[in-house]
Amino acid sequence: MEYFQGIILQDRIRDFFTRSLQNDRLAHAYLFYGGEGRGKEAFALTLAKTLNCQNETVRPCNECANCQRITHFNHPDVRFIFPASKALKAEQLHSIVQAKVKNPYAPLSIPGSKNISIDAIRELKEEARFGSVEGGYRVIIITGAEYMSREAANSFLKLLEEPPERFLMILITETLHSIIDTIRSRCQPVYFPEFSDEQIEQIVAQYEPVDQDIRPLIRMSGYNVKKVFNMLHASYMEQREWVLKFLRSLIVENYFNLNQLIETIRGKNSQEYALELLSILNSWFEDAFHILNGASAEQLINLDKSEPLMSFAHSFPEFRMNEINQAIENAANAIERNAHPVLTFFNLAIELHGLLGPRRKLKEAT
Ligand SMILES: [Zn+2]
Repeated sequence: MEYFQGIILQDRIRDFFTRSLQNDRLAHAYLFYGGEGRGKEAFALTLAKTLNCQNETVRPCNECANCQRITHFNHPDVRFIFPASKALKAEQLHSIVQAKVKNPYAPLSIPGSKNISIDAIRELKEEARFGSVEGGYRVIIITGAEYMSREAANSFLKLLEEPPERFLMILITETLHSIIDTIRSRCQPVYFPEFSDEQIEQIVAQYEPVDQDIRPLIRMSGYNVKKVFNMLHASYMEQREWVLKFLRSLIVENYFNLNQLIETIRGKNSQEYALELLSILNSWFEDAFHILNGASAEQLINLDKSEPLMSFAHSFPEFRMNEINQAIENAANAIERNAHPVLTFFNLAIELHGLLGPRRKLKEAT
């Protein structure tokens, strides 16, 4: 039997679970942990498919009826539980899950306060009493496990202590320490490291047609696949162009352009938009700083802009990184406290201008 063929996985995850499956030594409960956007939920679904797949040579095949039903979240033996507010209606919950049907790496966007209630766990336990509906493997996936209320966690503990046959529980969290000890000690912890640049490129290519170099997004996101998908939707490249124009106008002291450019934020009218611009601006200075300290183009966040970055860094070799960092952070704080983004960017522009230091004329390349 071949496992996880064509599925993009971290080596340690692939090796570990392939061995467990081959030796038929699956634990009753796993605790998947590690930062956001490392494919923990997607892999939990992959594992659920693997255990219920009908293919005789390759699992999961992603094509058989069982695989298909799990992909669409309507297999009776696979339950996917996530924290949500009690106020959410059934159709809202349905549409949250639909995003995962289209793309298992997509973030769950859950409005309002989040909680996994005792009711959800009670229901689960009730179902667990009757083994699997279809004779396969029952798989319970609980993502955001740290949102279990204390009562829910205590109730869940009973299930962990006496797991039924052919029953797999997968808890998922970003913060291992926020899971209570009694639960943690009864699950096998599995750490998910970051994906590589290439792996994230491959994952994105499966779900979104992109014709751009997405490596800057990957780095900007901190190797967080969920964030990369969000950034693709938020037209990150357009925002970065804005930042580059902003810097250019500032450097050549074209205040007319600068004015016009900053005025365009007014139309956006969104805190989040302005904060994104600031974090891109910050990444630019960080890259320039790293260049001056000998980093290669491959190591940069904005690696596709390494040439203008080099020329910027060498034109302003004395720019004051710490103060610039602070100025950008102050601007972000001000915007979070509802300062007007247009005004904030004007102030920041003036401040940055003073912090760039003297401009060096670049020697002609020989
Ligand atoms: Zn299958």
